[in-house]
Amino acid sequence: MYDMDDLIQLSALQHFAFCPRQCALIHNEQVWSESLLTAEGRLMHERVHDERQESRRNLRIEFGVPLRSLILGLIGKADVIEFHRLEDGSWMPFPVEYKRGKPKADDVDKIQVCAQALCLEEMMNVHIANGALFYGRTRRREDVEFDSLLRSKTEEIARATHELIASGQTPPPAYSKRCDRCSLIEVCLPKTMQKKRTVKGYLSRMVNEP
Ligand code: SF4
Repeated sequence: MYDMDDLIQLSALQHFAFCPRQCALIHNEQVWSESLLTAEGRLMHERVHDERQESRRNLRIEFGVPLRSLILGLIGKADVIEFHRLEDGSWMPFPVEYKRGKPKADDVDKIQVCAQALCLEEMMNVHIANGALFYGRTRRREDVEFDSLLRSKTEEIARATHELIASGQTPPPAYSKRCDRCSLIEVCLPKTMQKKRTVKGYLSRMVNEP
């Protein structure tokens, strides 16, 4: 169990799952770079959070819902939580996370919505089997099943993110394809920094060689 003072932002999990260096730059070094893509994403989230509540007979929708988990040590906000009325009259939460782009091959977005579900389970003492991701570019909603694999992956990422933030360290850059989608590429300079490290390593090997 974490103390209230030790909670980290739920969004840090998504940053860590995408790239631990990106997570450290944002959460340890408070670096943020607004690109066209992040601005579009931010506006989309703000629009969603500005809504308040919607209600139908068997469905209630709440926007910008505060979340917290002392087990995972997380605090944050969910874009949308749908509450579906069950046969026994109770309401089952169903988190829906809004994303600007399109579905991706990795689990980064799924981990974020799964972390929201784990927070809700702890807050409301329920078991949530499914949630969804809504993608702005395709205007489609993808269902996400919170199976045991996704749950353990999310818990593992939460632990690793806590360790990284507590260490205060920023891992060195390692250029890969994901860097081309990263809003921090201009700050991180993965290709230049990697080359510098290689040159530094070469010079130090030369100096130290007998
Ligand atoms: S540019 Fe690449 S290495 Fe640097 S933070 Fe982004 S994803 Fe990570």
